[in-house]
Amino acid sequence: MSKKELVEKLNKDLENKSTQEIVEFFLKNFEKTALSSSLAAEDQVLTDMMLKENKNATIFTLDTGRLHPETYDVMDATNLKYGVKIDVFFPNSEKVQELYQSQGVNGQYESIENRKNCCGVRKIEPLKRALKGLDVWITGLRATQSVTRIHMPLVEWDETFGVIKVNPLINWNEIDVWDYIKENKVPYNKLHDKGFPSIGCAPCTRAVKDGEDIRAGRWWWENPEHKECGLHKK
Ligand code: SF4
Repeated sequence: MSKKELVEKLNKDLENKSTQEIVEFFLKNFEKTALSSSLAAEDQVLTDMMLKENKNATIFTLDTGRLHPETYDVMDATNLKYGVKIDVFFPNSEKVQELYQSQGVNGQYESIENRKNCCGVRKIEPLKRALKGLDVWITGLRATQSVTRIHMPLVEWDETFGVIKVNPLINWNEIDVWDYIKENKVPYNKLHDKGFPSIGCAPCTRAVKDGEDIRAGRWWWENPEHKECGLHKK
């Protein structure tokens, strides 16, 4: 069966399953399955589901070196609550030094190219290492998070990283996420209480005002269609 046929079959077989059933299905049927977590609310929901299903489930995060202190706090709280150590992938130190030499501390504000260079060194290269050899990459993406994610399927073949990508929260809305977090007492990033619906690196994330798009706080100086860092094409 080709990758395309497999993805079509998985989408069909799983279309009426609950999120828990989808998570359980991939953990049971694909040995090398991992969640990439930014430690934001959606990823915390999936972390809770996965670790309740299998205490040894693989969850990894990318420490770009520019994260908010609150993000480390929720990482610590998560490790303590579930008795695990989330895998952390760091950028290549020589590449970070080169980045600093070429565009300084906050060069990402100066051009889209600079911003993509920074994301490339601090996120994409570590992500490639993290995804290497995996069969299934689970993400916390939701369709209503941004204009670039509206047509996202549940299961897709990610050509860039050569892995099956699964978005179990595709049909969840923000209320669903917070209901789950409260009901299950899942640790969450306290920046969410301060108006941050989406959390990334400290220099590139800000709080949003009531009524603003939930991704408006990410790379706010760029147009919405440019607002992906290369981790997700949508
Ligand atoms: S989000 Fe900002 S600081 Fe983080 S890697 Fe991308 S450009 Fe660099």
